[in-house]
Amino acid sequence: MIEVENPSRREVIGTVPRHGAEDVDRAVRAAAAAFPQWARRPARERGLLLTRIGDDLAEIGEELARLIASETGNAIRTQARGEAAMAADIFRYFGGVAGEQKGETLPLGEDLLSYTVREPLGVVAGIVPWNAPVMLAALKVAMALCTGNTLVLKAAEDAPLGVLKMAEICWQHLPEGVLQVVTGYGEETGGALLNHPGIAKITFTGSTEVGKIAMRAAAERILPVSLELGGKSPAIVYPDSGDDATVQHVIMAMRFARQGQSCTAGSRLFVHASIYDDFVARLSAALEQLVVGDALDEASDIGSLISGTQDVRVCGYVREALEQGAVALTGGLPDDSRPGYQLPPTVLGGVDPSWRVSREEVFGPVLVALPWEDEDEVIRWANDTHYGLAAFVFSRDINRALRAAHRIEAGWVQVNRSGGQLPGMSYGGKKLSGLGAEYSIEGALESFTQRKSITVGLG
Ligand code: NAD
Repeated sequence: MIEVENPSRREVIGTVPRHGAEDVDRAVRAAAAAFPQWARRPARERGLLLTRIGDDLAEIGEELARLIASETGNAIRTQARGEAAMAADIFRYFGGVAGEQKGETLPLGEDLLSYTVREPLGVVAGIVPWNAPVMLAALKVAMALCTGNTLVLKAAEDAPLGVLKMAEICWQHLPEGVLQVVTGYGEETGGALLNHPGIAKITFTGSTEVGKIAMRAAAERILPVSLELGGKSPAIVYPDSGDDATVQHVIMAMRFARQGQSCTAGSRLFVHASIYDDFVARLSAALEQLVVGDALDEASDIGSLISGTQDVRVCGYVREALEQGAVALTGGLPDDSRPGYQLPPTVLGGVDPSWRVSREEVFGPVLVALPWEDEDEVIRWANDTHYGLAAFVFSRDINRALRAAHRIEAGWVQVNRSGGQLPGMSYGGKKLSGLGAEYSIEGALESFTQRKSITVGLG
């Protein structure tokens, strides 16, 4: 068994199985046995079941939110409730559009009928991380199942409880075998899943490093693979947007209320030099108003990092940057009085774009702020990264903002907005941030089905 910790309190709150290769094998076999019948069900019937799952998830929203807050450290008021609601919404969205699994016909003349059908692939292997565990698991389940596949889902070892709760609801509606969930460690459980010969598709969300492992496993058997990986996303503030609303957007874009543990965090802030000092001062003051505390406390705006391991990693980045000469405009290293892995939201000024803190994904509440003067230069800086997941542009001049959005190398650019993904939008990274775009029905069709052409001679 593996112990699951509440990181806000450093208390064990549950145990889950540490599944090994034999368990994974049983899961894949069960999903394979369920596949033919599930694939044959009319798509709208599958969709109806997913919609009902969404409704039931909405019913237990508060229970799910408390579980998410307990195991992830994400504050209940600002994060966990939203995640539970989004999980229900994802099931309802994919349930509703499941019937859109359409093919095409080709106008080849009277004597020839050529058409395509979209077929499911088989047993999908899905692996998710801990940072938004239930929402990301809901996506894998809803996309794989609505398109007629069956799924073996591996939850993250640090946050499996919410995923298991969601799966319990799914099992009340789904035929036996269609959804399997395994829990355990990365290489031991996830590795066994990636390399299982019964898998027909890999969908992975997590770090770029493990994404490469997933892609190598897929290459061995020429499997389709979709990857949602890391980021180091830029947020660009133009001189006409030094207002408080933009300060709040920058806080939201950095996902400070999730301790910065988000793949889309706008963690490189570029503020025009003419407003830089004033803007970062007001940003720091606004961050100092936020309450960092226990994830289950309604008063907390910000909870705790996921684990001691992440805490050591994130503090290492801050310590190194401070030693290199960075200035903590707010935040910095934590004191010893904290009950869990709470870190103050931190803004670092005086950084060099070449430092590790400016280039690598910290995955913590650490924002680097740099002044810019020339538009071409800031776009070059924004694109000077191996990642290409998200970006944020803040300007009242919409032409200028859109020009910048078009030039930024990222899968998702938000203009004067800083919220999360919405079901139905195409979402996926460029460069080392991933492969494929999911979240929408079009993405699900591209990722989870294969076109088959059927050509009939009518002469
Ligand atoms: P991680 O890659 O370490 O782990 C993710 C999952 O992979 C976990 O379930 C883990 O057990 C499993 N895993 C680890 N090693 C494995 C191996 N050798 N074989 C098979 N499975 C293995 O990532 P993490 O630290 O849990 O999550 C944070 C990362 O996820 C960040 O880089 C973040 O940007 C990324 N992320 C991306 C998105 C996106 O949509 N692009 C969303 C959320 C998180």
